[in-house]
Amino acid sequence: MEMFNNLEMRIKRFVIWFFGLSILIIIYKLSIIESDVEKLQFLKETLFLNKEQLQLSHHQLLLVEHLYQNKVGGGLPTIYAITPTYYRHVQKAELTRISQTLALVPNIHWVVVEDSEEKTDLVRRILNDSNIIFTHLNAKTPPFEQLKDKDPRWKKHRGVEQRNAGLKWLRDHLKVNEDKGVVYFMDDDNTYSIKLFKEISKVKRVGVWPVGLVGGLNAELPILDEKTGKVIGYKSGWKPDRPFAIDMAGFAINLDLILTKLQANFSYKMEHGLQESEFLSFFTTKENLEPLASNCTEVYVWHTRTEKPKINGLIPDLEV
Ligand code: UDP
Ligand code: MN
Repeated sequence: MEMFNNLEMRIKRFVIWFFGLSILIIIYKLSIIESDVEKLQFLKETLFLNKEQLQLSHHQLLLVEHLYQNKVGGGLPTIYAITPTYYRHVQKAELTRISQTLALVPNIHWVVVEDSEEKTDLVRRILNDSNIIFTHLNAKTPPFEQLKDKDPRWKKHRGVEQRNAGLKWLRDHLKVNEDKGVVYFMDDDNTYSIKLFKEISKVKRVGVWPVGLVGGLNAELPILDEKTGKVIGYKSGWKPDRPFAIDMAGFAINLDLILTKLQANFSYKMEHGLQESEFLSFFTTKENLEPLASNCTEVYVWHTRTEKPKINGLIPDLEV
């Protein structure tokens, strides 16, 4: 009897010690995490409190907030926006317009790819002035694929070389399962609401939404099944039966998918007007698309085109 009591006592003591120790370890771990987060929070608050002395811009403060949220977890994924751009009279105006939209987006990394032999000072200056995290690249369209002045726009693919160069940069510099992000193809002449970037931040695999002023209608948009909420087709004034009747501006793809499907690139061999369809087919099917922008009922991006200005003379030494 006494022996049995003794054993019971020992077991009880063991259980008490075991739980006691476990609780102590958990408290210790929590205290480390907390002090790390507290340090970051302290740093962030110091920057915010002294923003005038440090001359921090609104966008720099947004960036600090984004980096802080990333560290504490639950922050927004980085949006890698790939923008092909080429020299013409309206280039500076276009890039100024979209860089100032992007300055209001905290979680952006702008990948600008010039269609040129070398990077230009014009683009370099816009990027440096923008306060945006950016990567500046160049990739020239080969002459035989280049659109001639009198060619209709649909005759050649545009942006192929540059989008591929952007994809290559992501694949060379980012790591699967480590870098949290979404990839978006952002042409330099469209008009983007900052609300669009909140939607892009929600993308899990491949997200889609309406695009205004394209495809022969006032908007091109995915049609959703009323019961399941899934994409079952597209409203478009041009080939609505394409595998994905979606403009380049109407979808975004999870970074891990881009980093693992290495064969997914743009090509001059793709049929005209089917670049988007062929590219998306590497990643997903219609049924698996994620409809965004309030179930595709809101337009947050417009396929605007800037009229080519008639210019009869140039003012010397003036960058316009
Ligand atoms: N683009 C380019 N080189 C060119 C023509 C176009 O880099 O020779 C870029 C352009 O700046 C834009 C994208 O490719 O970001 C798509 O071109 P565009 O807007 O002319 O095409 P569309 O809107 O007519 O499809
Ligand atoms: Mn365009």
